[in-house]
Amino acid sequence: MNIDSRIARLRSLDREHIWHPFTQMADWAKSDPLIITGASGCFLKDVRGGWYLDGVSSLWVNILGHRRREIDEAIKAQLGKVAHSTLLGMANEASSELAGKLAALVQKSFGAGRLTRIFFSDDGSTSVEVALKMAFQYWAHKGEKQRTLFISLENGYHGDTLGSVSVGGVDIFHSAFKPLLFRTGKAPSPYCYRCPLGLSRPGCGLECAAALERLVEANRDTVAGVVLEPMVQAAGGMIFFPAGYLKRVSEICNRHGVPFIADEVATGFGRTGKTFACEHEGVVPDILCLSKGLTGGYLPLAVTVANDKIYNAFLGGYEELKTFFHGHSYTGNPLACAAASAVLDIFDKEDIPGMAAPKAAILKNWLRDMETRQFVGEARGLGLMAGVELVADKETKKHFPWEQRVGWKVALKALEKGLFIRPLGNVIVIMPPLSVSQPNLERMLEVIAAAVSECAG
Ligand code: PMP
Repeated sequence: MNIDSRIARLRSLDREHIWHPFTQMADWAKSDPLIITGASGCFLKDVRGGWYLDGVSSLWVNILGHRRREIDEAIKAQLGKVAHSTLLGMANEASSELAGKLAALVQKSFGAGRLTRIFFSDDGSTSVEVALKMAFQYWAHKGEKQRTLFISLENGYHGDTLGSVSVGGVDIFHSAFKPLLFRTGKAPSPYCYRCPLGLSRPGCGLECAAALERLVEANRDTVAGVVLEPMVQAAGGMIFFPAGYLKRVSEICNRHGVPFIADEVATGFGRTGKTFACEHEGVVPDILCLSKGLTGGYLPLAVTVANDKIYNAFLGGYEELKTFFHGHSYTGNPLACAAASAVLDIFDKEDIPGMAAPKAAILKNWLRDMETRQFVGEARGLGLMAGVELVADKETKKHFPWEQRVGWKVALKALEKGLFIRPLGNVIVIMPPLSVSQPNLERMLEVIAAAVSECAG
């Protein structure tokens, strides 16, 4: 089959049968999307043989590059043993080995004996869903069934299942489902560039954290947990926390005896410059949600890691019905666990956050420069995770009208120059694999700067 007929065939199969996520399919039918057929390192190859820098780490999952030899080999070796067996009623070698390695990594970051129990699921949303059910049932076992209220943040994003949408706070994604959601308490987003309380740093005294504490106090008998994305509200627009905010929230949870649930689905595994983002402020959650980078971006796998206090509340006689009633068909899938084991071996042998540090410094300098440009309101980042918020007017911080799709136009322009990025509205997201080379990162930043000048101007 010649290349044109192959492309025509693949395009028509996609158009006729695939419903793409977060996509207006009427537009999609008119578009000419990249069709990926291969990858190497930080680049994706399309059906025409063109190479594109993977500037969003294939939706924030890839940390060590594509086709990393050790991960490829670990999956192949596992295929020679067993692809899947259930964790309901039996154990499997791959998930046990991974659990040991993950417990070691988590304890290295958070201290021995702090977060010990690993519950497997399939993706970021389910890791949060599990955390919510765990926290709720923990209270029920302690005789406090009335504790049903989760407190979370405006602009938070925790996934697309109904529980994780309930604790989410991104209107454009979540408002359509409001009638289906359970009630939560929403604290203001620590979005300093557009402070929802109309205050400014440093004189604000972190009033946003004080507001969260008031919410906890006002609901002291019904709060089941506080859930947030530590250090950065990613899908909400790459909103980075002011210094001290995360620590304050953790202290509030400790003071009030409320489980603190850290959703490190996007930030885990070195993305922000530390293995886990909580480490930036020396904070230890009661429940930790991880996915995305766990398998290096190879296969869907997630974990919800709980401390002993939570776990022990579920122990009891069979007839007490204290069992955690949750599990999926693919819980602890051996292929995905083998991939994750290989990733953790690499974390053990190499200093992955350290390796990313010089590149994070390049990114930081670039952000500083971008912020001086005309249509850039704020350019912010931590580690190899950054966002450039484009504005129509720098003085008034006026947004570009959303229908103008400026962020999307910047992404299209970048694609012409061999870079794949995906914006969040008018925030340009920068999230290459941590293994990106310095020249490739510099090229990526150059392309984005040029695309912003062309499109925003
Ligand atoms: N939590 C956070 C912080 C996320 O960024 C995401 C996805 N971007 C999720 C949860 C949901 O993960 P998934 O899409 O794998 O369900």
